[in-house]
Amino acid sequence: MTNRYFMNIAEKVKSCARRMAGLSDKQLQTVTNNLKSQLKSGRTLDQILPEAYAAICEADRRVLGKYPYDNQIYGAVAMHHGCLVEMNTGEGKTLTATMPLYLHALTGKSTILVTANEYLAYRDAAQMRPVFSFMGLTERAGVTRHPGQTLTNDQKRKNYSADILYTTHGTLAFDYLLNNLVRRAEDRFLRDFYFIIIDEADSVLLDGAQMPLVISGSPRVQSNLYEMTDFFVSTLKEDRDYLTEDKAVWLTDHGVAYAERFFGISDYYDHRNFEINRHVTLALRAHVLLKRQEDYLVSDQDEIVLLDNDTGRSLPGMKLRGGEHQALEQKEHVPLTQEQRSVASITYQNLFLMFPKMCGMSGTISNARQELRSVYHKRVVVVPPHKKLRRVDRKDRYFVTAQEQFKAALEETLKCHRKGQPVLIVTATIQDTQIFSHMLVERSVPHSVLNADNAYWEAEIIAAAGMRNAVTVSTGMAGRGTDIKLEEGVAGLGGLAVIGIGRMENLRLERQARGRSGRQGDPGSSQFFVSLEDDIVMTMYSEKAEEYLDRSRPISPWKLRHLINSAQKTREEQSISTREQSVRYDKILRRQREILYGARNRLLDRAQIDRETMWGIINDALTSFVKSHPDLQEHELTRYVLDNLSYEIDPEILTPHKDPNELLRRMQQYAAKLYDRKIDIFDHQEQAQDYMRQCILRALDDGWVEEVDYLQQLQYAITTRGTAQRNPVFEYSREAYHSFEDMKETMKKNITRNFFLGDPETDANGQMNIIFP
Ligand code: ADP
Ligand code: MG
Repeated sequence: MTNRYFMNIAEKVKSCARRMAGLSDKQLQTVTNNLKSQLKSGRTLDQILPEAYAAICEADRRVLGKYPYDNQIYGAVAMHHGCLVEMNTGEGKTLTATMPLYLHALTGKSTILVTANEYLAYRDAAQMRPVFSFMGLTERAGVTRHPGQTLTNDQKRKNYSADILYTTHGTLAFDYLLNNLVRRAEDRFLRDFYFIIIDEADSVLLDGAQMPLVISGSPRVQSNLYEMTDFFVSTLKEDRDYLTEDKAVWLTDHGVAYAERFFGISDYYDHRNFEINRHVTLALRAHVLLKRQEDYLVSDQDEIVLLDNDTGRSLPGMKLRGGEHQALEQKEHVPLTQEQRSVASITYQNLFLMFPKMCGMSGTISNARQELRSVYHKRVVVVPPHKKLRRVDRKDRYFVTAQEQFKAALEETLKCHRKGQPVLIVTATIQDTQIFSHMLVERSVPHSVLNADNAYWEAEIIAAAGMRNAVTVSTGMAGRGTDIKLEEGVAGLGGLAVIGIGRMENLRLERQARGRSGRQGDPGSSQFFVSLEDDIVMTMYSEKAEEYLDRSRPISPWKLRHLINSAQKTREEQSISTREQSVRYDKILRRQREILYGARNRLLDRAQIDRETMWGIINDALTSFVKSHPDLQEHELTRYVLDNLSYEIDPEILTPHKDPNELLRRMQQYAAKLYDRKIDIFDHQEQAQDYMRQCILRALDDGWVEEVDYLQQLQYAITTRGTAQRNPVFEYSREAYHSFEDMKETMKKNITRNFFLGDPETDANGQMNIIFP
């Protein structure tokens, strides 16, 4: 599909537009039902697109007073074809999205737009709702005005059943997981996924996509290995016993041999020693990679409080996962908190890959073109701005020390400020907003400071950053998606001046900062002030940087530029590879998740369980018991029967038979008798069905929780570096396969147990409640 192809379609939209303009309001509103019936009679979305887009454009004009520009129509066409479109900040992506949203909602299938935070979802939903409702469609926000407020399943169902939903990526991901944890069909609230637009797509798909989202549930039995492995690790020596690089640490061969002696095991990597291996890895990470005051603090209440790496702010209530928090507590000798199991998890990559149709938009996405192609199989289309960009992006200014850097940035700020020109200072870290704010106070410059705390409040402040004399200090993320309009007369002063302090994690973030200025052809400028002391340089090249910083060696301008810029490049390459890694891990989990959620949904939808199926499961469970006990003792058999089949014992079968086939035959006979007895207690066939479904569902969920939790832990444990001999993703995939097979066995055993020992009770409403063994 070429850009010319999109252009042609956009032309078709424009030729329909003339006809739409001639319609009365009433006539325009009938277009919706007309298009819906065209779809019903077999016309395709491609065929009705020109008319649909033209209709909603006309509605945009009548209801909002804004008619989408040609470039917006063009972007909307590209989105229909599954592209990620890059449109500069302020070009009007919100209005652009009304076209594909309207078109897809006509199908009656779920049509969703996700964006980076609750404020934006709520705002855009409210702004666009009048247009959609004018055209006879329902539109809702999946979040509330009050961040953190939880919705009931009924409220969620109402949201998701709207024709069009605006929500955040986080809300959607958690809802997906929660929707697959419900116990009854009527508690589900999601519709099948169909179409999604991702706004602020780079932030959603890239910046926030490293970590899987995890729902935690019941507490895990606390391991006593923390103390032992903590002691073990405290006796290790770097280089001899372990090596470290970037964010990984692993035992050397010497260290492995020592561990085997220390714990009295023969193969450290054998899966029977997984728990030891895992705890050693956790303790190593706690000791070597996590630094007190930098990554965490120990509070007066003897609690570990995590710090945000990028911003340095404390993150109260946040905990590291997979046992890492407990390992850290052990290292600091504070009481261990309860470890939570992970009961469900998914990465954003896989969440979005589940949508049959996905597209996105952002002001800065073309830099990540390649990655988006390889991970999401998406094409990036750059939409030219509606009016020519007039912003002047000045050359970066390089400094050796932070002191010189901040001083120069301050001089530049003052220079603009004296003229009354508004200045937006964007820093790479939160600490820097504070430092710069102090410097401004010293020079008596009134200003506002924003550091990604409250998106609602920030949006108000940042929207005012274009006023005469305004000085706003902000981190990169703060106020994203908010439009900065220039006050009258400010254009004559040169528009908004963006001053960047510090090289950022990646180029996209810097472009995002620059893009705050120069919206829709406004004048403006941007310039970055960077130095060797920038966080990113200090983390990537601390030794080299320090040599130059203490002035023991002079540095050439070329070398200075090179060091600072390659720090950013290397960091971005690292992030890409972390993201790729997490996709690979989750791909393995994804297949299992699909199988399981599929089975779950069939049960909730009242799939019939025939005798053959149930009996097959029971038979497998019995067979596997007999097989795994070649030399069965009488008390073992008694135990098994009491734990799995019946609370009463039938002496007939209770003598273990020498011949395992004979034993199995007797057990089958016995179980068949119990089976009929169980089924007989139900008055109706449907009750028995309900009972069996619940027995299976329970076993499925219990087994799956274990599996998810185990794979989460495994991922943490397999951080031993990928060498030629040990490929972590391969190891993970092999182990995941085995554990899935094990899980199936355990499920059959538990289904059998639930079936025979479950105690069904029907309450006054005819609802069956089962007490499970
Ligand atoms: P983006 O998300 O691309 O940064 P927004 O969707 O927030 O931009 O829109 C920026 C501003 O431009 C808003 O005030 C919006 O109302 C206005 N706008 C967008 N499209 C048009 C249009 N076609 N005509 C007039 N104003 C528009
Ligand atoms: Mg926007």
